[in-house]
Amino acid sequence: MKFYKPTLRLRRFTEVTASLLHKMGVRGVITDLDDTLAARNCLEPDEEVKSWLKNLTAAGLRVCIVSNNNEKRVADFAKPLGIPFFHRAAKPSKKCIFKALDLLEIKREEAVLLGDQLFTDMATANRCKIKSILVDPVGTYGGWFVQFKRKMEIPLRKKIPYSAL
Ligand SMILES: [Mg+2]
Repeated sequence: MKFYKPTLRLRRFTEVTASLLHKMGVRGVITDLDDTLAARNCLEPDEEVKSWLKNLTAAGLRVCIVSNNNEKRVADFAKPLGIPFFHRAAKPSKKCIFKALDLLEIKREEAVLLGDQLFTDMATANRCKIKSILVDPVGTYGGWFVQFKRKMEIPLRKKIPYSAL
């Protein structure tokens, strides 16, 4: 398996439902923040994120944010949602993913990593040997490094088909 290949490819985080996760044998979601749940310049969770999260937690799923962004950005977004988070995770480093598994009290087979980037998110999941779901980035804003990685990803993303639900 290629290091950047996801288990599933969907268009948006809202397609990641409790019933899908149960079918996958997942009990906990480790999610990226920027361009996965919200655009980078969107500082607070919107109603869509809130209701998505509510549905998952009501179904007994545990959710944690693992982001490479700074503490203020991640805390401002995660705190209104009442979910734990790790900032400056340095994905594709495995460190914060294992911390998140411990925090959520789940095994790696019971986890899925949700994210929008191949070389950070999907690569991290594969390095940790956990399931992954790739979504399309929701925002277009980003620094030069994000733009660079997006460009590099274009030919690879074309080879990854969307999963049928
Ligand atoms: Mg991202």
